[in-house]
Amino acid sequence: FVYVIGIDGGGTKTIGVLADENGTVVAKSIVGPTNPNSVSNYHLKGEFGKLFMEFERYSEFSHVQHLYAGMSGVDHPENNKLIKGIISSYLPKQVKVTIDHDAITALYSGTLGEPGIVQISGTGSITFGMNQHGERQRVGGWGYLFSDYGSGYSIGRDALSEAFLAYDGLKDYTYLIDLLQKYYNVEALPETIKKLYQGTNPRTEIASLSRLVMDAYDHGDKVAEEIIWRNGVELGRAISALGGKLFQNVSVPVVLTGGVFNRMELFEKPILHVVDRCQQEVRLIKPRIEPIGGAIVAAWKEENRQINDAFMA
Ligand code: BGC
Repeated sequence: FVYVIGIDGGGTKTIGVLADENGTVVAKSIVGPTNPNSVSNYHLKGEFGKLFMEFERYSEFSHVQHLYAGMSGVDHPENNKLIKGIISSYLPKQVKVTIDHDAITALYSGTLGEPGIVQISGTGSITFGMNQHGERQRVGGWGYLFSDYGSGYSIGRDALSEAFLAYDGLKDYTYLIDLLQKYYNVEALPETIKKLYQGTNPRTEIASLSRLVMDAYDHGDKVAEEIIWRNGVELGRAISALGGKLFQNVSVPVVLTGGVFNRMELFEKPILHVVDRCQQEVRLIKPRIEPIGGAIVAAWKEENRQINDAFMA
């Protein structure tokens, strides 16, 4: 029997799984963040060391054929090489190692290895696709400072700016003011400022406020409705632009993944509103397996194995 290892590595945590060709999990290990843009080399080695120590206890580890790591922050060849070097140092000699973008694993979690587009909208966002010829393209995902439309961050920032505009009397009242005050347990909106600017991680903090927008929407708030529509339209524009680069006259599966799509039904309409006007044929789908499952699919694909429909079912 042969086995593979899949890794789903990101800015908050890293998951590794040792699995067979049906996707049956032999061992699983979860360690800290391994995004090379935000984690030092010393800590990278430490985290991967911990991850592989877990697998060494299993006899299957010596029968691993391929390791596929879907990682954020490996676009740069130097980072890719760095991660590859560290991971390889913990593996038996025969193991082939592939380090790739985390968007691929996210795509495969919905298509099980088939071509398509993936829209990630978590803290950050990116639109990524691969066609039947293996060509890849991306739109957006250049980080929260000036990109990442339709992400949790973007929606959370909109919530704050709309609330403050309303507070200043420049725009209509929004229920978001009440929700923000309640969330931060303050009497007036400006009291949130200090907590926002001086928190340990304003980026994830603001992204988590996107949930308040969904709550305000459920409460019938017009401003929240507008924020959702606007961000959904941006996602639709990115998906259309990417679709145009990679696919002609085919129906394309678009995997929607990340925390924002816990309320997928709110975003379907604005996305399709834009995509339909561009006369693109898309099917919005949910992931069928976890992203880590996408890494296992990718590993077997590298080994030219067919993935069947019951994979990881
Ligand atoms: C990052 C991308 C990442 C995306 C989705 C963005 O903020 O710049 O590298 O793929 O978020 O996680």
